[in-house]
Amino acid sequence: MFNKKIFVIAGVAVFLFAAFFVSANHSWGNYHWGRTANSFTLELGNNVSEKWTEYLNTTATDWSLSAVLDTVVAAGKAGNPRNCKATNGRVEVCGASYGFNGWLGIAQIWISGEHIIKGVTKVNDTYFDTATYDKPEWRNFVMCQEVGHTLGLGHTDEDFYNANTGTCMDYTNDPARDDGAGDNQHPNSHDHEMLEQIYAHLDSVNTVGSSDGGSGSGKGNGKGNKFGVGIDLDNPSEWGRAIKKDAQGKDSLFVRDLGKGEKVFTFVIWAR
Ligand SMILES: [Zn+2]
Ligand SMILES: [Zn+2]
Repeated sequence: MFNKKIFVIAGVAVFLFAAFFVSANHSWGNYHWGRTANSFTLELGNNVSEKWTEYLNTTATDWSLSAVLDTVVAAGKAGNPRNCKATNGRVEVCGASYGFNGWLGIAQIWISGEHIIKGVTKVNDTYFDTATYDKPEWRNFVMCQEVGHTLGLGHTDEDFYNANTGTCMDYTNDPARDDGAGDNQHPNSHDHEMLEQIYAHLDSVNTVGSSDGGSGSGKGNGKGNKFGVGIDLDNPSEWGRAIKKDAQGKDSLFVRDLGKGEKVFTFVIWAR
């Protein structure tokens, strides 16, 4: 009897330990696209210059290796990539010279409840046109990571100076370096497992591909394209509250509360 009790307690401890590690990698939130069936297809609107096209295509192919989703490059709807207007139900990928504002790339997702309604990624050509960053490994790394955020993934590691772990979701000072687990230019199998966990359940609403943020079903509370419009989201002062810092002490994740359970999250990767 006594031994059995010990066994049960040990079992619970092991379970909690395992649960902690499972959630640790995307513990910033469990946000995801609402969908009534798996797998699903997410459009990546192409609003980047020709120099970026092959990297955007590579990223779309990389994330499509997932068993639960496909990402496909589609015609951009963002208008002027400088403003990069978000469109419900999809992700707009924008590239422009946003200036020496500190960031190489950002990813923004609009959330209603726990569902992603729309997403935007921006790559900053002001830096990518410099010799330091005008390299395939930096373009692959940043594009892959920003699109990864719009699928619901966080960073697996936020130290720019430790060993590369073989995924683009890991901060690095040299994406091309292989420290034994592969370079950091693409997702790894762990990222794909995370996606399988995040998308294991089904929802009663579709926000992916939906122009009304899922509200057409009567159950979503998305607000169409007016949701969060009028905020200049290029400007760090508009990103809201910083909720996470990287290993070098810089803010890596922000949230701006729009009220009524609606939020915009901004993930940042800073130029070194
Ligand atoms: Zn859900
Ligand atoms: Zn990031």
